[in-house]
Amino acid sequence: MCGIVAYVGPKDAAPILLEGLARLEYRGYDSAGVAVVNRGLKMRKVKGRVADLAAAVPSRFKGGLGIGHTRWATHGVPSDVNAHPHLDGAERIAVVHNGIIENADELRAKLTADGATFISETDSEVIAHLVARTVKDTDTLEEAVRTALKRIVGTYGIAVLDAERPGEVVVARNGSPIVLGIGEKEMFAASDVAALVRYTRQVVHLEDGELAVLRADGFHTFTMDARETAKETLTVDWDAGHYDTGGYEHYLLKEISEQPETVARTLRGRLDERFHIAHLGGLNLTPHETRAFRRVKIIGCGSAYYSGQIGAQLIEELARIPADAEPASEFRYRNPVVEHDTLYVAISQSGETYDTLAAVQELKRKGGRVLGIVNTVGSAIAREVDGGVYLHAGPEVSVASTKAFTSTAVAFALLALHFGRVHDLSPADGRRICDGLRKLPGQLAEILALEPEIAALARKYAGHPSMMFVGRVRGYPVAREGAQKLKEISYVHAEAYPASELKHGPLALIGPDMPTVAIVPDDELLDKNLTTLGEIRARGGQVLMIGHRAAEAKLADDCLVIPKNETELDPILLTIPLQLLAYHAAVTLERDVDKPRNLAKSVTVE
Ligand code: GLU
Repeated sequence: MCGIVAYVGPKDAAPILLEGLARLEYRGYDSAGVAVVNRGLKMRKVKGRVADLAAAVPSRFKGGLGIGHTRWATHGVPSDVNAHPHLDGAERIAVVHNGIIENADELRAKLTADGATFISETDSEVIAHLVARTVKDTDTLEEAVRTALKRIVGTYGIAVLDAERPGEVVVARNGSPIVLGIGEKEMFAASDVAALVRYTRQVVHLEDGELAVLRADGFHTFTMDARETAKETLTVDWDAGHYDTGGYEHYLLKEISEQPETVARTLRGRLDERFHIAHLGGLNLTPHETRAFRRVKIIGCGSAYYSGQIGAQLIEELARIPADAEPASEFRYRNPVVEHDTLYVAISQSGETYDTLAAVQELKRKGGRVLGIVNTVGSAIAREVDGGVYLHAGPEVSVASTKAFTSTAVAFALLALHFGRVHDLSPADGRRICDGLRKLPGQLAEILALEPEIAALARKYAGHPSMMFVGRVRGYPVAREGAQKLKEISYVHAEAYPASELKHGPLALIGPDMPTVAIVPDDELLDKNLTTLGEIRARGGQVLMIGHRAAEAKLADDCLVIPKNETELDPILLTIPLQLLAYHAAVTLERDVDKPRNLAKSVTVE
């Protein structure tokens, strides 16, 4: 789930590992550790930050082979002992592990009966003991790792060292990402390219069920039954600068502020002036196939799911194809009925979200046709799907998603326009949507210019223990995303409801302690929404209205007016003030904005 870094080469590994782990900090973690080989294993691990680990690593930590880890605890509390790496009893093997070993208890009992002594509460420690059992009798470390992994049920990304083989590191992947980085007479591996881009941009993604042996002069990859595999090297087009805060106080604010540019990138080269359609090169669908789908089912987790709700609405409105969104984490467990005339769309910023990947794999097993909407090129979901749309939003570092959310909604607008024009959307309406899409970057900049006003509103409302977010139809996913953002980074309790549902229950909560953020676009539902505002205020609830018309400002306690686009596209813009509202609420409450408690970027465990 969290971070892995490995190095083998002529330089000292420890500083490289620490730098790599620092680059992975954004993912959220609770402890960190490194091990290097230099006439035996040397290891340091601490509960806390990578900076605490760096302070604990002595300068005599020499050696050109090492592994490092940031942990997000699943088995056993965050502590020095439970931090990774984990060693076998003889301190010969060191392992770092991301993921969950499901049969850890059973393996632990067997290994204990066999004489092993466990010192941590983690599931991961069994791997070190298992590898140590076989390493004495095998010719290669890779064979010992393979034998160990055959006994393991669960998910893993791992990196393994053998103190007696100081020239190599073995990594393996099953459900948790591992990327190799190719340097000049040195090799790297990590769970995320962010840890590698300072050193190399030549990367190789491992597939599930693959192992790799890394030596300074190169690498070999194998399947679990020892067949060598051929791999394609990709060049990452992001450099280390993309992972800096670029002068902003937080990554989150940087990423919110980048949106005029990131949306322009999502749109670039994809709007056709002549036929008013979207060109999406990676869909791999002929017009004939596109017309054969009778339904669209969208799956994603967290904010990806809410952007999928915006997407479903866009597809229904522009293409008149029934569409809905569902959390991928639920979908995969309910034995879904997979239909040949339904098009499935999976959303994941990282392309590694485990629940979404598992849902895609389930769909593929049942013969479903799946598109991906993914930000990270070459990621697991991108490789698994039949076609898709890349966001090109650049690396998203802050745990709470902003620019990827917006670009996903824009990608859905492109998809809906494309499907619409293949179906019955008129050229005139196609042109209207194309024009609207082109206006988005400029309007995004106008909304960002309202930041001082939004910051003042955030300071006003942040002190309340709870907030309600309401919206109707197109506004409802916007309300859900607004509530999610506030919860995630400010820890203020927030609920989102369809405005129409308020009087069917949650109106009972409304009062002076629970203000409401109301999404009130200037659309056919304006009057209905304004009535809702009256109902809330009649119960003593304050209202912050986000919409397009200043004329009705007096119906709310506060009103934020933003630029209007085409009605179908307005949800994309209405979300932006809510990102800034959550950001400034979190800053006001002095929260750890980029690394909210208990959360991790790209959730690669179940
Ligand atoms: N399951 C392991 C543990 O709790 C690994 C957690 C992780 O992915 O960081 O230590």
